[in-house]
Amino acid sequence: MEPNSVQPSPAASSPKLIRQIIQYPHPTLRHRSKPLRRVDGELRQMIAEMLELMYARDGVGLAANQVDLPYRIFVMNPTGDPAQKDQEFILINPEILSRRGGVEEKEEGCLSLPGIYAPVRRSTKIVLIAYNLQGQQVQYELEGLAARAAQHEIDHLDGVLFIDRLSETALAAVREKLLELEQEFRTNRRLGLVPDDRQIAARWASLEGLRT
Ligand SMILES: [Zn+2]
Repeated sequence: MEPNSVQPSPAASSPKLIRQIIQYPHPTLRHRSKPLRRVDGELRQMIAEMLELMYARDGVGLAANQVDLPYRIFVMNPTGDPAQKDQEFILINPEILSRRGGVEEKEEGCLSLPGIYAPVRRSTKIVLIAYNLQGQQVQYELEGLAARAAQHEIDHLDGVLFIDRLSETALAAVREKLLELEQEFRTNRRLGLVPDDRQIAARWASLEGLRT
């Protein structure tokens, strides 16, 4: 750079609303998300940040609890490819209307349970109802990976993790890794990196008061 050149100012942007993806056994992952009452600019920013984090971590879906927000929203792109915008789903207050087809067992992982993979039984086809960013009601019939990912994310919104759906054998196989994550969480708490349960619950109440 030339000594007298003008330093370009950084592009104007709002401060980040979302810091990180929380990991098992953080209590927000066990909290049942509350439906949202409205869509506004701040919610759009939260969703944009969720998509950014999901792609950065090579995920195909991310629920609001996973970024420590007690809201009923998830984002998903079964291709995991940010260039394929037409495969991107933003689902506000989603509910499963019906489950169709059969049940299939396939391996799942989760950004909140790093390094853990195990087979989970899910419906092969679901009909989902939700609101989009324009506040309009939308309905999707999903199958394959999209159906699986959506069921995984809706579980998150209900405080359910994929490890809750494992067979005894599959659970036993990941038990050691779960204990490691639990140990890491306790260490982070001791270091003051994770607030205590009362502070977490107070934050849920305040965030829910604003939007649900
Ligand atoms: Zn997950």
